Amino acid sequence: MSLTILFSVITLGILAILFASILYGAAKKFAVEEDPRIDEVTELLPGANCGGCGFPGCRGFAEALVGASESGDLGTLACPPGGADTMAKVGEYFGIETKAPEPKVAVLRCGGSCGNAPAKTKYEGPSSCAVAHSLFAGESGCPSGCLGLGDCVSACTFGALSINSETGLPEVNEEKCTACGACVTDCPRKLFELRPTGRKGRRVWVNCQNVEKGAASRKSCTVSCIGCGKCVKTCPEKISAITLENNLAYIDPAKCIACGLCINVCPTGAISATFEPPQRKNA
Ligand code: SF4
Ligand code: SF4
Repeated sequence: MSLTILFSVITLGILAILFASILYGAAKKFAVEEDPRIDEVTELLPGANCGGCGFPGCRGFAEALVGASESGDLGTLACPPGGADTMAKVGEYFGIETKAPEPKVAVLRCGGSCGNAPAKTKYEGPSSCAVAHSLFAGESGCPSGCLGLGDCVSACTFGALSINSETGLPEVNEEKCTACGACVTDCPRKLFELRPTGRKGRRVWVNCQNVEKGAASRKSCTVSCIGCGKCVKTCPEKISAITLENNLAYIDPAKCIACGLCINVCPTGAISATFEPPQRKNA
């Protein structure tokens, strides 16, 4: 009996050693050598892990940078929170010249404040824009308007967003916004856009995303875009920065020269700017 046990123990021991050797050999043979530069480049990044670069965290971005550096050009790769300083450090590390990314800032494209888009119903569900968005059009009835429950505020790890208690709309603190894009991703109504900060901070944008016909959109919000096209006609022909699609105007920030002409002709006041538009001359 004891001999049988001894024999079993010895057999199992031999098998264990055999399998361990096979596994060790396989691990050695198929081991993936990690490029030490990935760790070094990760150290140069801000460590925010916000995904603003389009990669899964700073380490994912470092891997992409190491890969791109092989071609001697980092292309359009950029770290929004780190900005030009971080990309300069990365460029110096690889010995590659980098271009400073165009500074951008998050812009909310909705003017549906409590005053402009008064509530017609009362939402009593979970305090989540994503949930509310899946359940109804919103208290004002605008199917594209801000729900005001602050999913964007929770998404912003830089503390750049807060809900204004008077308007019920989120506000962007431009000093804190790094243009990481988390709010763009997390707003279920896609109300945020990263727009260039603009020359001397001058920006003009259509403050609405409602694609309903004019009469319908005006029912829920007094400052909605009604798709009348007056702004399109007013924008100087050689600039042509405004397009109209599905009853909604859009101002291309790459073309807009921030002259402010469109702001004055918009009959609903749907166009917003970071500056006072020039006043129309009386006829
Ligand atoms: S902007 Fe979007 S995420 Fe932010 S409060 Fe409004 S609906 Fe919610
Ligand atoms: S406001 Fe939006 S883009 Fe700006 S830092 Fe916050 S989440 Fe990122």
